[in-house]
Amino acid sequence: MSDIERTTTQLPEPSAPAWEYAPAPESKEIVRLRDRYDLFVDGRSIEPKTGRYFETIDPAHEEPLAEVAEAGEEDVDLAARAAREAWETRWRDLPGKERAKYLYRIARALQERSREFAVLESMNNGKPIKESRDVDVPLAAAHFFYYAGWADKLEYAFPGRSPRPLGVAAQITPWNFPLLMCAWKLAPALATGNTAILKPASTTPLTALLLAEVMEQAELPPGVVNVITGPGGKTGGWLAAHPDIAKIAFTGSTEIGKVLRRNVAGTGKRLTLELGGKAANIIFEDAPIDQAIEGIVNGIFFNQGEVCCAGSRLFVQESVADVVVDKLKSRLSTLRVGDPLDKNTDVGAINNRDQLEKIAELVQSGIEEGAEIFQPECVLPERGFWFRPTLFTNVSQSHRIAREEIFGPVLSILTFRTPDEAVEKANNTEYGLSAGIWTDKGSRILWMAERMKAGVVWANTFNRFDPASPFGGYKESGFGREGGRHGLEPYLDLDGGAV
Ligand code: NAD
Ligand code: MN
Repeated sequence: MSDIERTTTQLPEPSAPAWEYAPAPESKEIVRLRDRYDLFVDGRSIEPKTGRYFETIDPAHEEPLAEVAEAGEEDVDLAARAAREAWETRWRDLPGKERAKYLYRIARALQERSREFAVLESMNNGKPIKESRDVDVPLAAAHFFYYAGWADKLEYAFPGRSPRPLGVAAQITPWNFPLLMCAWKLAPALATGNTAILKPASTTPLTALLLAEVMEQAELPPGVVNVITGPGGKTGGWLAAHPDIAKIAFTGSTEIGKVLRRNVAGTGKRLTLELGGKAANIIFEDAPIDQAIEGIVNGIFFNQGEVCCAGSRLFVQESVADVVVDKLKSRLSTLRVGDPLDKNTDVGAINNRDQLEKIAELVQSGIEEGAEIFQPECVLPERGFWFRPTLFTNVSQSHRIAREEIFGPVLSILTFRTPDEAVEKANNTEYGLSAGIWTDKGSRILWMAERMKAGVVWANTFNRFDPASPFGGYKESGFGREGGRHGLEPYLDLDGGAV
């Protein structure tokens, strides 16, 4: 017997690995919260004509953070006039290279103030600081840098056409990536010579309002960007309906997307919709399994699964299903759920109570319809909105958890035998935003990608974003593209100058 063998046999049975970390809280000091936030219209803060304010909270502690103005119809009208006037007198005819300078300034200010933005985003949204710090904020800055580069090159982006801006864009954003969605919308709008009115989601207005400060810091001409806050059905509805709006860019639920499409019909307003999803993440037997496990975890637990392109349906080839499910269960048990401001946190708080209830209701339906639930043991904080990372096996295609968007940390696992069956099952959904393919074979990646009815297909990775790469959906996931050269088009009349 060698020395090594002797020592190993003397060791106690390996117990479950411990994944304890000392607390590593990010300080909140850098954020200077105001008690009250007014509307940002025509380059300055104005009190809402409604006189009303609503509370915005920290979903991890259910503590109020600040009061935020509720914009009424009159306020929407003021913002629309300011944006219209700014477009006609200060922005439309500014040379592209001058517009670019403002965009570069905004991008640099975002970088300089990145920690402030990251901490505030995690406080108001509940997402882990490591995600807001490493993903949301750097990507937001990258979008401004990227579109700054296009501002003076539009005629090269569309050779032989005469690109002209549309006018005032109404930009309505969701609560899952509050700052990043503002950047996705503002950067291409400004680069192309449009002015904007931003309406952030009512549960996460704070980083959009901080972005308004950055607009002042960049000395953007007044009225080019306006930020109005308030409830979706009222403030958002009035904004979308305002006659001075030339274009609506919306990210949010399919339900509201349909409402907007109906309301816009016949008005001549341009519309792009980025809606929900139920993405397939497909694991073939020849995939690098450990990497795939990380990709699956990133696909569905990144941002608590509150991601429109989340890999919420996992399709595993039958021959490797057992090993994938076993490894996933063990990996789930290592996820640290808790304080969003702790640098070690993997899964933070759900953004709002309604969303938490929606997740719980859908998970309950999974249990009732006969799927088998697995949740790791973990201690959840007493206050705040929390949901354990969850996976379901024995899922069939007809189950609600396999069809409906849950928008939470819940994975439904199904199996397949052949590539054809994988294609058939993956495309069997009303949505079509994204898909993931895990295989060692390049030819199979191309074969699959061609057949996926999804706007974005990731190969041996998931949830990767780049400002140069267009993003958007098919079917009930919406239409129009954000990012890349494609992302300029929705903000331009391409034959505006043609005779
Ligand atoms: P939502 O569609 O109601 O809200 C999105 C944005 O639209 C918010 O700014 C909201 O204030 C605004 N809005 C709401 N009603 C409006 C109206 N009638 N006219 C104009 N604007 C309006 O989404 P939600 O209620 O926050 O979330 C519900 C579901 O939507 C979630 O469970 C999730 O499935 C989905 N969702 C998807 C995304 C995405 O990125 N695709 C983002 C957020 C939510
Ligand atoms: Mn809603």
